[in-house]
Amino acid sequence: MLKFFVSSSLVLIAQVPTDNAQFITLKNLLEQSGFQVIVELPPQRGAYGLLQTSSKKIWINPVVFDLNIALPTLIHESVHAAQVCSGEGTIEMLGLDIEPINQARPFFQRYGDIHRQDLEREAYAVQTQPNSFELALSLVKKYCKLTS
Ligand SMILES: [Zn+2]
Repeated sequence: MLKFFVSSSLVLIAQVPTDNAQFITLKNLLEQSGFQVIVELPPQRGAYGLLQTSSKKIWINPVVFDLNIALPTLIHESVHAAQVCSGEGTIEMLGLDIEPINQARPFFQRYGDIHRQDLEREAYAVQTQPNSFELALSLVKKYCKLTS
């Protein structure tokens, strides 16, 4: 079975101090939407966050708490979660009308696959908005059904 991993090995915007309440709010919403959020080393070396589409598992590398990038890491993976919900069994772009900041370009352009680049560009676009937290919440609410 082909497994598709979506990871963010680099996160651009460190929010200091990390807003713990926002992290928990977003984590809870993802869990209510059928995703499992686990704080442990992802099965892909060097990733800060990882979403496995087949199992709807999201790994958050514990190191992001030390780096104060836990919230942007979860926001990034939340966009991929919304992409999974939107794709209904596969993963699809949401087609948002926003672009990432220029400094984010190297992070998604390193992906050779153009579909993959689009998915990452969208995740970085949300992640680098000033209202990234609210945007991530609304995308998960819009595309994912509450399961609990
Ligand atoms: Zn990503």
